[in-house]
Amino acid sequence: MSGPPQEFDYIVVGAGSSGCALANRLSADARYTVLLLEAGGPDTSPWIHIPIGYGKTIFDRRINWCYETEPEPELGGRRIYWPRGKVIGGSGAVNGLVYIRGQPEDYDNWAGLGNRGWGYEDMLPYFRRAEHQVRGGSAYHGADGPLWVSDLSERHPLCEAFIATANRRGVPLNADFNAERQEGVGYFQLNTRRGVRCSPATAYLRPARRRPNLAVVSHALARRVLFRGRRAVGVEYQRNGEVRAARARREVLLSAGAINSPQLLMLSGIGELRQLARAGVEPIAELPGVGRNLQDHLQARVVLRARQAITYNDIFRSPLRTLWAGIQWVLTRSGPLTVSAGQAGAFVRLMPDAERPDVQFHFITFSTDRPGEGLHRFPGFTMSVCQLRPASHGRIELASGDPSAAPRIFAQYLSARADLLVLRAAVRYARELARTAPLAELVAEEVSPGAADDDESIDEFIRATAVTIFHPVGTCKMGSGPEAVVDSALRVRGVEALRVVDASIMPTLVSGNTNAAAIAIGEKGSDLVLGDA
Ligand SMILES: Cc1cc2nc3c(=O)[nH]c(=O)nc-3n(C[C@H](O)[C@H](O)[C@H](O)COP(=O)(O)OP(=O)(O)OC[C@H]3O[C@@H](n4cnc5c(N)ncnc54)[C@H](O)[C@@H]3O)c2cc1C
Repeated sequence: MSGPPQEFDYIVVGAGSSGCALANRLSADARYTVLLLEAGGPDTSPWIHIPIGYGKTIFDRRINWCYETEPEPELGGRRIYWPRGKVIGGSGAVNGLVYIRGQPEDYDNWAGLGNRGWGYEDMLPYFRRAEHQVRGGSAYHGADGPLWVSDLSERHPLCEAFIATANRRGVPLNADFNAERQEGVGYFQLNTRRGVRCSPATAYLRPARRRPNLAVVSHALARRVLFRGRRAVGVEYQRNGEVRAARARREVLLSAGAINSPQLLMLSGIGELRQLARAGVEPIAELPGVGRNLQDHLQARVVLRARQAITYNDIFRSPLRTLWAGIQWVLTRSGPLTVSAGQAGAFVRLMPDAERPDVQFHFITFSTDRPGEGLHRFPGFTMSVCQLRPASHGRIELASGDPSAAPRIFAQYLSARADLLVLRAAVRYARELARTAPLAELVAEEVSPGAADDDESIDEFIRATAVTIFHPVGTCKMGSGPEAVVDSALRVRGVEALRVVDASIMPTLVSGNTNAAAIAIGEKGSDLVLGDA
């Protein structure tokens, strides 16, 4: 350990979606000093800021943790690649930019599980407070927040055909998935500001960086929370090969995300006793739920060959057209470089008993074998489908007591059979859409799954090709039961002065992309912390 320990009122671990929001709001109160520790470096890569750059950052070890799961039993023993942002801005700096909050019932369900203050009516003010909606403010939207929410700069003919086709089959048109109702088909909105990514860091940290009471330290890997008895009093971290300590006068706040927050708790002696013993960690508090309740969205991807060379495969496989797209972005901040990992979308009810949408579509105007891999050589596009509320739950375990070792991820996809049935229905529905006009008129052939239409073939396709859509949550579950890790004020049970504030506290996965919810958790978390101060 080197150097004298530094002292702050609050230490936030992790400058991701929740951590950036949290650090900004805490340090807005000049009475408190805040240290924000981030394992990754500054967000200097241009690929972070050019929207389509997520295809580049997804495999970049300098800014990505590049995790993978253990072999997944129901996915043919495949290890599933799990990118996570390791950079100022966290996963919000490398994500697909799609802005979706989920369904009101998701939050009402959290409240119904005993988490007072987490219902939709409670959360809506935080979504609004966070938001800079380019369409202006409304009962559902904020116009004065730091997080920009923008419309796509162009409407692709394939997206138009997809929307018209789904609508023809009875899916209502929806111009705003984040207002009265989520159900329907339409265009996604994105976290961009005038054609540039609006990451949690650009939204929340940049404006706060000059505050004298906020210190942001990058390349700082937190190793464990330091305790005096059962009270968290600081964080041990490593930077440039040195181990250092920072003291927290008031609280330590973990915002290291759904994989690393539970890992850090376990490294600090909070978790299932057997696991701690196996990793040689001295126990502080027994909390068997740490790392459990892992939930994620699994996507299956139906790939189609277009009749004409109008897809983004065609643009980005041509050096000349790529150059033109680059010029267009530099000059007007518009064009193909501004697209997200899904331009149009749909939320549909597919299972007979579904009372609200149970499947999300990401309609993508290009195609690959796997997200982030090279584009197909043919004019291809993709309909990605995922079940919104999977019943399969996995877990995160410590692989060792070494803080720089990756934890073990058991996603346990499709371990609940019901999940396979929903995904099968979703793949079927996507194929039906592709065979319905006007979309059908643009389709030359279905590339995958291909010809076979029996249940077994579709299931086999799912098991052989389905991958994450990058929404792991739930591993430090909020609640009151035996598996709960934090209470409804996000305080870690059994210890003092320690909270978890990030996507890991979700008791259940929200019905949609998770970034907006993670930011809202950071916003609400800051009120909870300041309310107790
Ligand atoms: C490739 C990809 C695409 C996605 N697409 C979308 C999308 O289109 N729309 C959407 O809504 N959501 C999307 N998501 C999900 C969304 O971005 C995440 O749910 C959200 O960012 C999670 O926020 P968080 O604060 O919980 O964690 P993160 O944002 O991951 O932040 C955790 C931070 O903690 C840091 N950290 C971890 N361990 C330590 C440690 N020991 N010491 C110091 N720092 C540490 C990490 O480096 C990271 O910066 C995507 C995610 C990925 C990875």
